[in-house]
Amino acid sequence: MAQVSADGSPLRRDGRRSDESRNLRLTAGIAPHADGSVLIATGNTQVICAATFEQTVPKWMKDQRVSGGWLTAEYAMLPYSTLTRKPRDATKGKLDGRSVEIQRLIGRALRAVVDLETLGERTLWVDCDVLQADGGTRTAAITGATLAVVLACFKLRRQATLQGWPIRSLVAATSVGLAQGLALVDLDYEEDRAAEVDLNLVMTSRHELVEVQGAGEEATFTAGQLSHMLALGQDAVHDLIEKQRAFLHAHDPALGELPFTNGPG
Ligand code: UDP
Repeated sequence: MAQVSADGSPLRRDGRRSDESRNLRLTAGIAPHADGSVLIATGNTQVICAATFEQTVPKWMKDQRVSGGWLTAEYAMLPYSTLTRKPRDATKGKLDGRSVEIQRLIGRALRAVVDLETLGERTLWVDCDVLQADGGTRTAAITGATLAVVLACFKLRRQATLQGWPIRSLVAATSVGLAQGLALVDLDYEEDRAAEVDLNLVMTSRHELVEVQGAGEEATFTAGQLSHMLALGQDAVHDLIEKQRAFLHAHDPALGELPFTNGPG
């Protein structure tokens, strides 16, 4: 049942409970030339996530004789993904600082669970392009990119190109905000704009934290409120991970055998 504010109006415009995430849809194979790809949609936010292997590693790895492979991410908002058109970085001639921050976050989230040694001398490029932005694009990108990476590794493993299974666990992410002192999960754009505190939570299927980004916007918050937001976010991320597992199982039952300790073979 929808929760109501003190004046009797719905707490959230779309009628969600404070701890309720938006409807999640996952579509595999959206970019057929990538080794693995997924379109992730949470409410009106949609992100194309594609993972592609390149048969080389960055120069710094060769120079420093670092063995294994590398994983790196790029994030961009397509010009028509926002309410007012957002010019491409290439046209502006400079990188958007927000995009750089987000792509580093995505890369860190995935490198936390991918064994780079098992990738061999390859770079796994993870491209996240926002098709429609309505809040939570970075968290959707992480949840979707994880699946694209699993599909890409599964393809190479099936071809016996990978000499092992590199993925230790799944990763998913969500946002939690404080609006008028109340914690809300998976904020849309309007909720995000109105929130006093915005927190992004990245976790693994082993219930470990990878990253917590939390900040007050012209506001402060207490340790007690932080604990409450973490608890709500944790439950939401675990739900997302269950949906990731179901999606992978539907794609191929061998992929349902998580957490991949020995790999799907
Ligand atoms: N947004 C936008 N244009 C921008 C940056 C953000 O329209 O250049 C909107 C978009 O809906 C985005 C939301 O503001 O999802 C929140 O942005 P934030 O930087 O908090 O990242 P996100 O919540 O998408 O991870």
